[in-house]
Amino acid sequence: MAIIIKEMPDLSKARSRLHQSVTIVHDEIAVPERLKAMALGKTYFIRTYGCQANVRDEETMRGLLEEAGFSSVDKEQDADLIILNTCAVRENAEDKVFGEIGVLKGIKSTKKDIVIAIGGCMVQQAHIVSTIIDKHRHVDLMFGTHNIHQLLDMLDEVYVSRNRLIDVPSIPVSSNETMPAKRLHRYKAFVNIMYGCDKFCTYCIVPYTRGRERSRPKEDILAECRQLVATGYQEITLLGQNVNAYGKDQHDGYNFASLLKDVALTGIPRLRFTTSHPWDFSASMIEVISAYPNIMKAIHLPVQSGNSAMLRLMGRRYTRESYVALVEQMRAKMPDIALTTDIIVGFPNETDAQFNDTLTLVEQVGYDGCFTFIYSPRQGTPASRMKDDVLTSVKHERFDRLLIAVEASARHHADALVGTTQLVLVDGYSKRNKRVLSGYTEGNKLVHFSGSSALIGAIVKVKIVESHLYSFKGELIND
Ligand code: SF4
Repeated sequence: MAIIIKEMPDLSKARSRLHQSVTIVHDEIAVPERLKAMALGKTYFIRTYGCQANVRDEETMRGLLEEAGFSSVDKEQDADLIILNTCAVRENAEDKVFGEIGVLKGIKSTKKDIVIAIGGCMVQQAHIVSTIIDKHRHVDLMFGTHNIHQLLDMLDEVYVSRNRLIDVPSIPVSSNETMPAKRLHRYKAFVNIMYGCDKFCTYCIVPYTRGRERSRPKEDILAECRQLVATGYQEITLLGQNVNAYGKDQHDGYNFASLLKDVALTGIPRLRFTTSHPWDFSASMIEVISAYPNIMKAIHLPVQSGNSAMLRLMGRRYTRESYVALVEQMRAKMPDIALTTDIIVGFPNETDAQFNDTLTLVEQVGYDGCFTFIYSPRQGTPASRMKDDVLTSVKHERFDRLLIAVEASARHHADALVGTTQLVLVDGYSKRNKRVLSGYTEGNKLVHFSGSSALIGAIVKVKIVESHLYSFKGELIND
């Protein structure tokens, strides 16, 4: 089998922010006729790793594949086409993908015609692509985050030529605003508002894998949101690597606060957004969030460390003091706001005293929840070149201490919820018990309760009767 390399990813090209202009098109997707014929009766399976941006990309891939005539199956063994939609943010995410690639070798050995494709952030890195080319010859196609809209053309080429194809552009050239999407949820939707990130936090690979920060035109975002409202969606989450930077690349004064307000005015019952960078979080955003009842008072505000010197090394652009001041500003307007965060433990050369600052910050802010990670170097980032004198055992010990602090903070909020009445958007049945309904409060807390299936998709009142820290037992209130 020959290998066609159209484009290999290149981190230094991806790092550059010069001379990048992305052409936005609104073209109907044209399915290649040959692919249409070949897709007839064929099935696909997509496994997605990582963040909500990847989930939204999966919805686009599904939309494209179903437009071509593929139909979805629940098990990879039943599929004629398997796509791994990957994440590069941490080493263990990549390890999982390599494990899965190994599993797929077994499937391909019994099903020769199957096509195996790998897309997403992981393959935006040349060393990963080279490894897969050399060691995993059963992978037929690798494509990146910038050319998902060309997926059908790439598949057409692979199916016809039966060559291996590598096409991973380092920078986006065009973006199609009229891509089909097969949404994974019937009542809750993700809407991209911007792509990429220009912050270049020193540990993060995202600015290289997702490219330059670029905002979607507001007209396209609002049209998508109105369409979701018209078709009965109850919740929209606006997505971006750094949503607060929305509009900064458009220079017309229309910013994230303006967009939030306009989306809230579409009448969507619940509006959320993620992820926020504290540096870009403005007073006008706080004003808008507090003014509109349908904007949920639950904000994910990644802090990463509670020590200002560490934050400087991480390239985060704020200090502990300015972060705490931002939280105080939010709480002054919205005393009951639920705050969650991300924290990295064991960044190079973190001292005990610096780590203690993170522990005291967790206590001071009083988070409802926290995603905690042990630092893992990402090849090509500035932090990966820093010398590190912290023992792995020390990092693990700090991680355990952080978990205790985070749980104490979460428990405080969880206990306070017991006895209150919450509005819950009913998602469906609980994963563990198919006779119990589950849904989320406005503060994004998972609640299980008994009720009729007719409530799925509705917002109902539930009394919280028991806390299990990160989930709750409730009783439906029939008004
Ligand atoms: S803000 Fe920092 S951590 Fe977040 S995606 Fe951008 S570079 Fe990565």
